[in-house]
Amino acid sequence: MRKIEHIGIAVKDIDSSNALFASLFGEAHYKIEDVEREGVKTSFFKCGPNKIELLQATTEDSPIAKFIEKKGEGIHHIAFAVDDIEKEIERLTAAGFNMIHKEPKKGADDKLIAFLHPKSTNGVLIELCQEINK
Ligand code: ZN
Repeated sequence: MRKIEHIGIAVKDIDSSNALFASLFGEAHYKIEDVEREGVKTSFFKCGPNKIELLQATTEDSPIAKFIEKKGEGIHHIAFAVDDIEKEIERLTAAGFNMIHKEPKKGADDKLIAFLHPKSTNGVLIELCQEINK
């Protein structure tokens, strides 16, 4: 793994959270993306070299809706950049980690992504992401 790619924060209302984080960072989000198949709407902020992703559920059975129901708003996941996501999934599976996704799938922000189950990582939901070569 190369570095933290972004931190994902689950929010109830992305419009009011966009305003809140824009005033926190002194800069508006640079991107909004609806990831329909995941039932989420996302927005991205830059803070120096770091990125923050806000996630709002767009359907009742969205993983974000379930997360907020259980834990409330807050940090949802930490994403790490990897060069070769398939190799990384293979390595982590062999090391005994429980992958939610055994195959990479297309996520927001032009990335291939896969999540690790938080049960195998001290309660932290971890996302792997690899830039899609354009
Ligand atoms: Zn993410």
